[in-house]
Amino acid sequence: MNSKAQKIKAASIDPAYYEAVTQAIRLEAVKLLKEETVVAVVGYLPGRRRGTASPALVTNPEQAANLIFSPACANNLSVYLTKAKKGVLQKGRVAIVAKGCDMRAVAGLIGESQIKRDDLYIIGVACAGVYGFGTDRSQPLTAANIARKCRECNVHLPEGADFAAGTPAELSDLTPVEAEEMARIEALPQAERWAFWKEHFSRCIRCMACRQVCPFCYCEQCLCDKNRPQAVESSPRPAGNTAWHIVRAMHLAGRCGGCAECERVCPMDIPLNLLNRRMAKELKELYDYESTRVPQEKGPLTQYKENDDQSFIK
Ligand code: SF4
Ligand code: SF4
Ligand code: SF4
Repeated sequence: MNSKAQKIKAASIDPAYYEAVTQAIRLEAVKLLKEETVVAVVGYLPGRRRGTASPALVTNPEQAANLIFSPACANNLSVYLTKAKKGVLQKGRVAIVAKGCDMRAVAGLIGESQIKRDDLYIIGVACAGVYGFGTDRSQPLTAANIARKCRECNVHLPEGADFAAGTPAELSDLTPVEAEEMARIEALPQAERWAFWKEHFSRCIRCMACRQVCPFCYCEQCLCDKNRPQAVESSPRPAGNTAWHIVRAMHLAGRCGGCAECERVCPMDIPLNLLNRRMAKELKELYDYESTRVPQEKGPLTQYKENDDQSFIK
């Protein structure tokens, strides 16, 4: 695989590129299942509506021949390695289709001993981008409808995968949106920053979709559910909402892979990835740590270095 992605303009993403990736995934998945290298492949099948895609677990070559990859394949499939389908891993090795931003989650889960690298076969995708939330999926992918996270992607290549589908491609004509928004919020006086987040948190309906979709929220009993004793109020009221969002952000600090799935599924349009990105920035500045596509032995909050920042100890 080339170590550098080829630069292309968003306007020139040919739908045929996704077709070529689809064919490569199908061939590899069919081969893996026929040769019994894996017991199942976690990938995408066409959704019920035109232009959509659904996560799927396929277990025979006939089903694998229908797998797809398209700009609608936004889901981070690594969530199925720790939640609903995790029992499949007990039956044998599993293949998973992963974009670069998904691979950071796969690597993180291996680093947290939730899965073993040897139990996985990673079909990496050289990814040019996926649709943004709420965009028309019957249209080709362009700079106008690409996801916010893809505008600043630095993980187009499936580094660390067992197989790479597609020719690495990177879009050269995208302007960042999230970085600018983050800089704007960071420049606000503290009271205004707090007002910004307070307004967003106040709209949270505590549906927990952001938790359910996150590969790293795999605790069997969540601190934020109804518990005895109750740590965080579970109904959508201001104090409980603020506590939930602080717990979520802190719990994911140094773990979040930045897939932005939490933000994609939020029905209230809360910009959760801004918070994720801010935490990631703190981790980089404080511990020179960032999430990667290859597993790291330990996360920043589970190891001690003598030169760690001590300024929080008063
Ligand atoms: S962030 Fe990068 S790897 Fe992830 S979907 Fe967008 S372009 Fe693909
Ligand atoms: S917190 Fe959000 S962006 Fe981070 S890994 Fe979980 S779903 Fe992805
Ligand atoms: S998905 Fe959105 S509304 Fe639902 S709990 Fe998360 S932040 Fe709140």
